[in-house]
Amino acid sequence: MRPTVLAAALLLAAPAFAADDAANKLAQDAIIVDTHIDAPGGLMSHWAELGKDAAKFEFDYPKARKGGLDVAFMSIYTSAKQDGEGTAWQTANEMIDAVEALAARNPDKFALLRSPQDVDKLRQGGRVLLPLGMENGAPIGDDLSQLKFFFDRGVRYITLAHSAANRIADSSYGIERKWHGLSPFGKRVVAEMNRLGIMVDVSHISDESAKETIALSKTPVIASHSAFRHFTPDFERNISDELAKAVAAKGGVVQIPFGTAFVDPKGAANTQAHFRAINEFNKRNAELKAAGKPLESEDEFDKAWAEAHPPPQTKIDAVLDQIDYAVKLIGVDHVGVGSDFDGVDGELPDGLRTVADYPNFVAGLQARGYKDADIRKILGGNLLRVWTAVEAAATR
Ligand SMILES: [Zn+2]
Repeated sequence: MRPTVLAAALLLAAPAFAADDAANKLAQDAIIVDTHIDAPGGLMSHWAELGKDAAKFEFDYPKARKGGLDVAFMSIYTSAKQDGEGTAWQTANEMIDAVEALAARNPDKFALLRSPQDVDKLRQGGRVLLPLGMENGAPIGDDLSQLKFFFDRGVRYITLAHSAANRIADSSYGIERKWHGLSPFGKRVVAEMNRLGIMVDVSHISDESAKETIALSKTPVIASHSAFRHFTPDFERNISDELAKAVAAKGGVVQIPFGTAFVDPKGAANTQAHFRAINEFNKRNAELKAAGKPLESEDEFDKAWAEAHPPPQTKIDAVLDQIDYAVKLIGVDHVGVGSDFDGVDGELPDGLRTVADYPNFVAGLQARGYKDADIRKILGGNLLRVWTAVEAAATR
C-alpha cells in the first residue's frame, strides 16, 4: 500500500495476451497464495461487496475464481501518519472487522484462514481463503501482548514497519534512521512473533533492520512483497541480493510484487521521488500549521503528482524477469508472489491487472520453460511450506 491513495482511474484494458488452456488449468489446480492484497484498505475508502463483481477493485470473488486464487492474504495496512495520530489500532481492527464481515456475508465464497493445515478443507467448493497480514507493526503500539491479541484475530504475518521508523524498526523509505537495526522493543517483538507463530516480514524495512531481523528470528522469515533491487539500483524498498540470500538461507521466501512502482526502474524512481515530495509536503504543512496559516491540500498534491508522473507502460516480462533472477540467485524453493493488488493505484503491468490474471503469469512462466512442479512452488507451495514451519515452531 502507498502512504497516500491516488485516485487513478483503473485501466481495464484487455491483457496483451491471453493464457492458453494449459496455463488456465494449472492456475485452477495449483494452490495460489498471494501474500499481499490491499482490498481491506479499499473497503475503508470505497466499500463494495467483494463477493460480487466490484469494478473498482482488483480483488473480488469472481475475479479470484477466474484467476485460480486460493489464499489471499488481506493486508491490514496502517500508515505512519495514523501511527503518529494514535489511530493505527482502531483502523487495524476496523479492517479486520471488514474482512470478517465479507466472509460472514459470503460463507460459500470466502473463509477466514488461520492455519495452512486448513487450506485443503476450506477451499472445497471453490472458496477463496482469507488470512491476514499486518502491514506496519504500528497497531501493537508498545504493548507486546497486542501480538497475541492480533494473532487471535487472525494476523499471520507482520511487516515490522512501513514508510517511517516506528517503535520496532526503521523503514527503507524513511529519512530518519532511528534504530540502525531493530529497537530493543523490536527484538522482543520478533521473539514473541516466533513464539506465537506469526511470520516475520522484512518488506519495507531498512537494510539494517532486515539484516538484524533475519539473524534474530528463530524461524524462516518472508519478504511479503519485495522485488529485486538488482533491477532498480539504490531503491532500498526492493530487496538486495545479500538480504535475499539471507532470507533463503533461513528457509524463507521472497514474494515478488507486480506493481510497476517496484518492478520497473522508471516506476521505482517515481516512487522514490514521491516519498521525498511527501516528506517535503508534510514539512511545509507542519510549518504552516505552526504559523497558524491554512494548510496545503493533500488531494491537490496527489492530483498534481499523478498528472506529472504517469506510470510507465510495463510489460508482464518485467515481473517474469524478476522471477527468473530470483530463481537463479536464491533457488526456486524461495520465490513466491505478493502482488500488491489494490495497493498500487492500478499501476500494474499489461496482462497482470487483477487477480483474474494469474493464468497469464503462469503462461509466462511456462513459456520461459518452467516445469509445472516449480510453478506450483512459486504460486504458493513455498509460502505454505514457510507458514507451516513457522506454525510448527510456535510454542504458545
Ligand atoms: Zn507495501
